[in-house]
Amino acid sequence: MTQVTVITGGSRGIGAATARRLAAAGHHIAIAYRRDHAAAQAVLADLRTTGVRAVAVATDTREPDQITTLFDTAATLGEITGLVNNAGVTSPIGAFVDLDPTDLRHVVDVNLIGYVLAAQQAARRMNTGAAIVNVSSAAATLGSPGEYIHYAAVKAATDSLTIGLAKELAPHGIRVNAVAPGTIRTDIHALSGQPDRPERIAGRIPLGRPGEPDEVAAAIAWLLSPDASYTTGTVLRVAGGL
Ligand code: NAP
Repeated sequence: MTQVTVITGGSRGIGAATARRLAAAGHHIAIAYRRDHAAAQAVLADLRTTGVRAVAVATDTREPDQITTLFDTAATLGEITGLVNNAGVTSPIGAFVDLDPTDLRHVVDVNLIGYVLAAQQAARRMNTGAAIVNVSSAAATLGSPGEYIHYAAVKAATDSLTIGLAKELAPHGIRVNAVAPGTIRTDIHALSGQPDRPERIAGRIPLGRPGEPDEVAAAIAWLLSPDASYTTGTVLRVAGGL
């Protein structure tokens, strides 16, 4: 079966690693990114060297019309068989009492509303055999005290979305799962004001080190693959033992 997979936040980090891994496995790929056009084009060039078809679509996942355009464009590659709901943001690390309402809304809008809008488009277009993977976080069960409790709470909502949607779409033969990464070496930590966070907390991670984006991509690729044909409604933790 030809696989056509949409990956939000595909211009860097976990999303870009997932795009590269899936392209190597033969998926045609539509990546969405928000503003880093050059990074998206660089990923696209890598994907095309594998011989698959690939497009990059500037998409703010908070905007329903832009999500529709993303899926319309992806559909030009063939019937959409996969969605990786990955585009996500944190906000400046800090105490709960200091949380700025603007940062709170941004985290909810991108990490929850964006995921719901993209999953809705996928559910409307997908057929039997298709699969969705939501990128959650180990924060959902750890709570992230002193860092970003609101982000952790929204990631817990991602897990609920995964469980409910898995049950609603199971009769249509569509599987829905999540991965919950621990601390992974990507730009997200610099954007939250602490680029050295992965190394700083390495001692608290049972495996003794932060994860790499491709170690999360491997779990996502498995969940999308036929090898996971009886797996739905699960949250697969990829967190080095945390
Ligand atoms: P990242 O390196 O910061 O990449 C984030 C990606 O999301 C970028 O491609 C960015 O595009 C895109 N993006 C952000 N806001 C967007 C919006 N409104 N519309 C469309 N795209 C948007 O992050 P990452 O670490 O790979 O994180 C990926 C996912 O993993 C997120 O859901 C995150 O919460 C989750 N996660 C990460 C970690 C970790 O330690 N890294 C741990 C647990 C969970 P632009 O560059 O164009 O803005």
